[in-house]
Formats: sequence, C-alpha cells, structure tokens
Amino acid sequence: MNAKNDLKEHLKTCERLLIGIGEEWKRPEAEVIPAYDSLYRLTEGKDFFIVTTVTDGRIFKSGIDPARIVAPCGNDSWQQCRDACTKDIWEPGEVPDGVCPHCGAPLIPNTVAAEHYIEEGYLPQWQAYTRWLAGTLNKELLILELGVGFGTPTVIRWPFEKTAFFNQKSHMYRINERFSQISQEISGRAVPVSDNSVEFVRGL
Ligand SMILES: [Zn+2]
Repeated sequence: MNAKNDLKEHLKTCERLLIGIGEEWKRPEAEVIPAYDSLYRLTEGKDFFIVTTVTDGRIFKSGIDPARIVAPCGNDSWQQCRDACTKDIWEPGEVPDGVCPHCGAPLIPNTVAAEHYIEEGYLPQWQAYTRWLAGTLNKELLILELGVGFGTPTVIRWPFEKTAFFNQKSHMYRINERFSQISQEISGRAVPVSDNSVEFVRGL
C-alpha cells in the first residue's frame, strides 16, 4: 500500500480536514517554507482547521487563512508582560522599548515558555476550533497529524486519537519519523507513516 497516494485520495473526498503540526516542524525557516507552501495548496478550498504547537509564527506567513489556525503554545513574535500584570498582548513593534507600559517589567514572547503565560493570545481561536471540531462528528473527516511527538501530547496527539476514535467516518494519518505508532483502538482507521512529516508534506 502506498500511503501517499491513499492520503491524496482521502484529501479529494474528505468533507472536513483536521491538521496538527508538532515538533518536527521546529526547523529553520528555509527548510519549512516549501512544506507550508504545500500545506497552503492542499487546504485551499477545503473546510479545515490547523492546530500547531510550533511557536515561530511561520505558519502565519504561509497564506493559510489565520481564522483557521490555532497556536495554543503561543507565538514568539507576540509580546506579553513578564509579570503578567495585564492580559494585553502586543504585536511586533507596538511597544518599541520592550517594556510593559503598565508596570515597567520587560516584555517577553507570549509562549508557554513564559513563567506566567497569558493564554488570551490564543483562546478566541481555541473556541473557534472547538466549535468547528464539534461540527465534524458525522462528517468524512481526514486527520493529518504531522510530526507531533510527546512534548505536549494533550494539545494534539491525544485529542486527535480521541477524535479518530469517536468519528467512525474519520481517517487518520500519523506521519512522524520516530513516533508514528498507533494505538490498538484506532488501528482500523489510522495509518502510521514513519517518515519525516516536513519532507512528506513537501512531496504531496
Ligand atoms: Zn506589566
């Protein structure tokens, strides 16, 4: 069986497309650009949503509709107050001196690495995502899990398994160089592909 051709067929026929992007995509920009270009092409015209744990913000330069992307681990280019005195989040250049206008503490990247991570940066999109996901239950759902390891499994890996388990019309591809293993409960609907997901997507 050729997983790539099989996946391409599912891409043509699916009613909904759910994509998860993980650790394998934490690579220099030049290496991931062609893969994001490819993702843009394959999501075009689709009813899709993308969840990413990558914080480099590169996906937001890909042309993919940001209304269909959620980045729960944050974004390196957005800034928050180090002491979280406010839930404000600033875009690059909005606060040129890099100091919190409210309390004078330094501004730091708005990501999970922050000691006091301000989740307001992604929560509106997370709500949009959960609404979208609720609407996929009886649809032909194609799930592409791309390079998601065990760094933050509660964000993509485990919930995607649950989604594949409950949606009997779903098909899932777990594409991962090292961690493509599939649990018994979803083995009928999920296909492990032991390839690097960035390379794999670039070749789609
Ligand atoms: Zn502050």
